[in-house]
Amino acid sequence: MTTETKFFADATLAGLARWLRLLGFDTVCFQGKAGRPLMRQAAAEGRILLTRRRDLLERQFSGRLILLPGTTAVKQLSFALGKLSLEIQAQNLYTLCLSCNQKLISLERESVRDLVPEYVFEHCSVYTRCPQCRKIFWPGTHRRNALQFLKDNGFDVT
Ligand SMILES: [Zn+2]
Repeated sequence: MTTETKFFADATLAGLARWLRLLGFDTVCFQGKAGRPLMRQAAAEGRILLTRRRDLLERQFSGRLILLPGTTAVKQLSFALGKLSLEIQAQNLYTLCLSCNQKLISLERESVRDLVPEYVFEHCSVYTRCPQCRKIFWPGTHRRNALQFLKDNGFDVT
């Protein structure tokens, strides 16, 4: 299950966008220049706008905007989650494709027999696939490493 909070990140925040997706937060990363079209699209899709552009604060915007500090992606993540009092839920990790922002779909174990390494097939029974790029995912060291990284950086994971 993914959360209802959706984000719209400007093009300079790709690292942060990746982290948000990893945690299960639907996040679009805008590819154009930050400005009027960015704000229009964020508002139209009901997404919280994430930006480092202070000048955007002075423009008319009907939606919600969070001005981020120009630090690391992890510090920006902490800042944004803190602002919105959002919790990290372990069950939401890796529910979205990190590249496409698409909700991953469950696969039957048998259906991936020829698609994943043999070692993985023998040890893992849960698989998901991105409907857009078709990449297959399974819980493994990535997930454990991400959880450990979050804990090491002072994030609470419930
Ligand atoms: Zn994908």
